[in-house]
Amino acid sequence: MKAIVDRQKCTVCGVCSDACPMGAISMRENRVEISEECSLCGICVDTCEFGALSLPEVGQGPAEDLGSYRGVWVFAEWREGTVHRVSHELLSAGRILADKRGVELGAVLLGSGLGDEVAEELIAYGAEVVYVVDRPELAHFTDERYAKCIVELIGRHRPEIFLAGATSMGRSFIPRVAAGFKTGLTADCTELDIADEGHLLQTRPAFGGNVMATIICPNRRPQMATVRPKVMKPVRLEGRKGRIERVELPEECFTARVEVLEVIAEQDQTAKLTEADVIVSGGRGMRSAENFHLIEELAGMLNGAVGASRGAVEEGWMAPSHQVGQTGRTVAPTLYMAAGISGAVQHLVGMQGSQVIVAVNRDPEAPIFDVATYGVVADLFEFLPEFIKRIKREREA
Ligand SMILES: Cc1cc2nc3c(=O)[nH]c(=O)nc-3n(C[C@H](O)[C@H](O)[C@H](O)COP(=O)(O)OP(=O)(O)OC[C@H]3O[C@@H](n4cnc5c(N)ncnc54)[C@H](O)[C@@H]3O)c2cc1C
Repeated sequence: MKAIVDRQKCTVCGVCSDACPMGAISMRENRVEISEECSLCGICVDTCEFGALSLPEVGQGPAEDLGSYRGVWVFAEWREGTVHRVSHELLSAGRILADKRGVELGAVLLGSGLGDEVAEELIAYGAEVVYVVDRPELAHFTDERYAKCIVELIGRHRPEIFLAGATSMGRSFIPRVAAGFKTGLTADCTELDIADEGHLLQTRPAFGGNVMATIICPNRRPQMATVRPKVMKPVRLEGRKGRIERVELPEECFTARVEVLEVIAEQDQTAKLTEADVIVSGGRGMRSAENFHLIEELAGMLNGAVGASRGAVEEGWMAPSHQVGQTGRTVAPTLYMAAGISGAVQHLVGMQGSQVIVAVNRDPEAPIFDVATYGVVADLFEFLPEFIKRIKREREA
């Protein structure tokens, strides 16, 4: 879908073409062409003084009674025996949303061999009810089975809001669930709130992180969002009360065209960027793969993971699994250290949620300093070895 041009009204003045942030509008002889790059942002509509541009009507009118949907649900991501911390974060955020709406907060737990203690932990993070589907077929994650189970559960209980982590699992199967209800899904949210009319305000970076867009889903239910890990704060309270409902679903929910034969744990521990509390990243300023030993040594000393800019990955110095940024991993560690990284917006969107950012760059104008908590203007080949030596000395002392 793209913006619509009314050729009767269009004067081919070119203002819309200049205003389009996607570069989707071009001027061809005596007509305006809109390409598939159009993101339906509506900027062209606002800039056209002749009223020649409009957006197609999307998701018109409620398909059914929106008022019949009630409650906030969080998908509890259980994988190989543990619940992902993003689910605890989402339950804490969901608790606030549910309280504002005056509704119940539910968690949905799918897996195999699930003891009550797993569900009780979700209650401690804020769930009032945990729906547990415990079946051998759910021992390993598959999109098809997980999507069918969630669709069945949502169909039965009709929550108005459904949240999941923007993890590889969430990103993989939640779109299927949204498609199942022909409802909207906002991926990769960094903030959630509730408007007076009950609309979920879903905020996420847009246009390469240059603006924060708040998105609503006014005409369909449930309102669905995935949220980046480590953005919300998990709050665990002992003594919270809730109920655990073990649910039977139709056999059809457990059939799938794909079988998982074996799960092989990721060998490269350093690539576990999203989980790390400390990340030390290197960029093109590192000059070679060999020089990354400085980054690796420092990361090792701080019990952290090694990250890289796309510049360093493109040079072949680090594997793509280490890349931080728009097309790499989004991270939010307690400490993020960037050495020889300029701070392009595509890098910043992947790490600016870090609590403390330390940047080392010899260019005092480097944009990385705009987001840095501490900036070191220095040659990294002088600074890093000295910094490593200093840590060693202090630890020995
Ligand atoms: C669609 C798209 C997606 C992208 N996705 C990503 C992404 O996910 N992640 C990402 O990182 N990039 C991404 N990029 C690329 C991004 O725009 C930048 O090109 C990239 O981040 C640059 O990497 P860099 O900072 O390592 O290199 P450069 O921009 O070349 O910066 C190197 C820096 O090192 C400094 N330096 C050099 N030598 C030294 C020294 N001896 N001591 C101290 N400092 C030194 C320089 O001053 C400079 O600031 C994407 C681009 C596009 C178009």
